[in-house]
Parts: sequence; structure tokens; C-alpha cells
Amino acid sequence: MNAKPETVSWHERARSLSFRTQAFIEGRYVDAASGATFDSINPATGKLLARVAAGDTEDINRAVSSARAVFRRGSWANLPPAKRKRLLFRFAELIGKHSDELALLETLDMGKPISDSLKVDVPGAVRCINWYAEAVDKIYDEVAPTGPGALATITREPLGVVGAIVPWNFPLLMAAWKIAPILAAGNSLVLKPSEKSPLTALKVAELAVEAGIPAGVLNVVPGFGQTAGKALALHMDVDCVAFTGSTATGKTIMQYAGQSNLKRVSLECGGKSPNIIMADYPDLEKAATAAAYAIFFNQGEVCSAGSRLLLQEGIKDAVLEKVQAIARTMQPGDPLDPNTHLGAIVDETQMKRVLGYIDAGRADGAHIRFGGRRVREDSGGFFVEPTVFEDVRPSMAIAREEIFGPVLSAITFKTPEEAVEIANDVIYGLASAVWTRDVTTAHRVARAIRAGTVYINCYDADDITVPFGGFKQSGIGRDKSLHALEKYTELKTTWLDLS
Ligand code: NAD
Repeated sequence: MNAKPETVSWHERARSLSFRTQAFIEGRYVDAASGATFDSINPATGKLLARVAAGDTEDINRAVSSARAVFRRGSWANLPPAKRKRLLFRFAELIGKHSDELALLETLDMGKPISDSLKVDVPGAVRCINWYAEAVDKIYDEVAPTGPGALATITREPLGVVGAIVPWNFPLLMAAWKIAPILAAGNSLVLKPSEKSPLTALKVAELAVEAGIPAGVLNVVPGFGQTAGKALALHMDVDCVAFTGSTATGKTIMQYAGQSNLKRVSLECGGKSPNIIMADYPDLEKAATAAAYAIFFNQGEVCSAGSRLLLQEGIKDAVLEKVQAIARTMQPGDPLDPNTHLGAIVDETQMKRVLGYIDAGRADGAHIRFGGRRVREDSGGFFVEPTVFEDVRPSMAIAREEIFGPVLSAITFKTPEEAVEIANDVIYGLASAVWTRDVTTAHRVARAIRAGTVYINCYDADDITVPFGGFKQSGIGRDKSLHALEKYTELKTTWLDLS
């Protein structure tokens, strides 16, 4: 065995790792009421990792009751903000202390490289919770300018019980983007992680209680979308569902809200984000490097991935050669090897979906410039090469639909106007980028693109201070920044007659 020493060490740690597999309700781990479980598979080996409680309506009902009871008691919602802040700081600190364990769980459960789990996912979750903790005692309410005959205050109150439903691509980070502002605003929460990656959320739940956050404030019920997710979104005593996932499921969640109690819905959905490089951009190597990471990072399983590369005529070969050079350094590898930059696809179903789109691209007449195959099949895991299609027409499925894998569709255009037209000609509007040295072109294009984020001369720049979310069918509402708190609070006007 010539495994690198650090690789061996992560494998060894994996062998002695224990998993939290029960639901976490009212501060305790419990089996599903039915006793049912589902299998959590390691996507790098195809082997069973753990059997996880399959929550359903009864479990959701218990979790919602526990969340409602603690909200009514006010033992979280009515805490002085400075106290809530301290407990959230402590929660973030404990997550930080369990970094290695959480990173390992994330990588085993979801297939992403351990170096990414360690450098991106866990620290991102810690930063997010700390940031909202800091905000808790710095937000003031308002007094309306009604004149001397009245005192009208406009205050923000927590909603009550929030249900959060999250996907599998950044299981811990997407959960943190919900947990932090929801709890900071004083709500109680029932979190339903994806059935494909429930393990980090289940571990984090006990850290909340260890930090001193009252039992029942953060409940986690694992299970399938059609059962646990549906029960949560249809629940008559849930005030809001904060959803991150596909656009198709987002539409269903809105229907559930309408069929039940008209609960608030916020949706962070899919994307097919355009990354536009103008021929005048002086550093094509930099733009191409960013384009490669924009699609290959996290195996392309990123909602804001730059999955459409729009190249102005004349620069296609220069850019794609560099993208290919980066892709060579990102061949799929063992996720537990710290030198791996591209891990396993989350499961067999998703891998087949990605390979299906590769077949569809070929059948539609696009050309594979490189990649296109399943690899490392002997491992039993689900790995797909970084893949680039050229000669893609905007009408093709690979240019219009979210693949959610390491597959880039390169499209050429002549003018900035044509680039904007292509960029906007999909149902999504999550992220986008334009690369140009011309400041006027940059701003014109940025204004014309219908997307929640437009990067200029960069891609995937990130900070918790800026809102993240989509136009069009990429969603409703924003995660991150102070704006996220708007989703989890009600505005109340209190009018005192002084006349
Ligand atoms: P998905 O829609 O299949 O599942 C998301 C979550 O919804 C899971 O927890 C699932 O169990 C649950 N769910 C499924 N059906 C349900 C139902 N009928 N009722 C209630 N819950 C249900 O999405 P996915 O495959 O897990 O994640 C990938 C998608 O997430 C991609 O489209 C990606 O773009 C999107 N995403 C968006 C963002 C963002 O911030 N905009 C971030 C990450 C991922």
C-alpha cells in the first residue's frame, strides 16, 4: 500500500468514527416512531455507512410540538438578545471544536474532498453562526414619523416555528445558512436534512444543546422528502418553510403552503449560471482558471456553478485549453485524500443523471472537448470526469437545464447584447459573471442580467455580508446578510394614541 500518510490517517479516523443516526427531538436522540430506517451510502465506495431514522408525519408532529412549546415558554424567543448572542457564539465554538469530525462526516456522507470540508464547509458554518450571533443585539426597531398625536413603533418579532428543508450538496453549510438567522431572530426550528446527507446536521443538533440553547429550539428530523419533508411543509402549526433545493421541489413546497395554513415560504432553488468572457479581458488565463473552478468545484454540485461558459468569438481555444489544463489537475480521486480536488458524485442516481446529460449533449450535436466518462468504477463509487462541451447551442438541454455535475457547456457569441440575450434565456437567475476591461460594458451587462448575483472579473467571490438568492425560478427570498432576518420575522405596528 503506497497511500500517503495523511490519507491513511483520514481513513483510520473514518474507521473509528461514530454516527448520530436518530432524530433529535426536544433535546434527545430518538428512533423514528415507526422504527423505520434508511441507508446512508458512502458515495466514494457505494457501501453502507449508517442506517438513519426515517422520520415521517408522527416524528414531524412531535418535533413541531416541541418547537412550539419552547417558543410559547419564551425560553429562547424572550431571552435578552445579549444572552442569545452568547449561546450562539458558544454553539459556533463547539462546531469549530468538532471540525475534524464534522468534516469527515460530510466527506463520507456526501463525497466531497476532505480538504474542502475542512477549509470551506465547516469554517463557513462557524463564520455564519458567529456573524448572526453578533447581529442579535445590534438591530434596532423603528419609530414611525406619525407626528405628535401618536407614538407608532414598528417592531420585528420572531415568526414562531420555522421548518427548514435543505439539500445534499453543502449539507452543513446550507443548514447553517438557515439555522443561524432563524435562531438569531428568536424562532424555534425543525430541520429536515436531505436523505442523501443527513449526518452532519444530526451531529450538530446535540452541540446546540451542549452550548446551552434550550432543548426543543433546534430539532432535526431526517427522512425522505415525500414523507418527512411533505409533513413539515403541510404542517398547520409551522409558520414558515425555508427551503433550499431544486426548483421542481420548490414549486411543490409552495403548493403545500397553499393547501395548509398559508405559511410563509422562502425558496433557494436551482441555477444555470452564465459566465461571460469578453475578448477584451486582458488576462484570459485568470478568467479561464476561474471558469474551471466555477464548474468543477464540489463536483459541479453547486447551485451557483458557472455551468454555461459564454465566450466571445476568437478566444474559445485559448480559454478552453487553460480550462482543460486545470481539469487535468482536478481528476476525480479518493475524497479522503487531502490532495483530491474533485470527489464522488453524491449517489448513483445523481451520477446517472449527469451521464444522461452527457449523452444528451452528444446526441444534440455538441462536441466533447474533454472528459465525458465515469471513472474509478473499481472503487464501487460514483465518479465522473470533469467534462467540457463545445459547439453548444443555447437551445440544447445541456445549455438550459441544471445538470448539477462537473459538466461545462461552452457557447460562443459575437456582441455583448447577444451574450445578455443568451444569459437571460433560461428559467433560472441565480448567479452570473462578466469578464471585461471595459467598465461601461461591465455595468451595462451587469444591469441587464436577471440574476441575484453578478460577478465582475471574478467568480464565486463570497462573504456572509452579501445576500444570496435568485431571480426568476431560482427562488424567492435571500439567504445570508441581514436581509435573511427579514424572512424569519414579522413586522408589527403598535399605535399609541397620545392626543
Ligand atoms: P431536492 O429538491 O431534490 O431536495 C431538497 C430537499 O427537499 C431534500 O431535503 C428533500 O428531501 C426535500 N424534498 C424533496 N421532495 C420534497 C417534497 N415533496 N416535500 C418536501 N420536501 C421535499 O434537491 P437536491 O437534489 O437535494 O439539491 C439539489 C438542488 O438544490 C439543485 O437544484 C440546487 O441548485 C439546489 N440548491 C440551491 C441552493 C441555493 O442557495 N439557491 C443551494 C444549494 C442547492
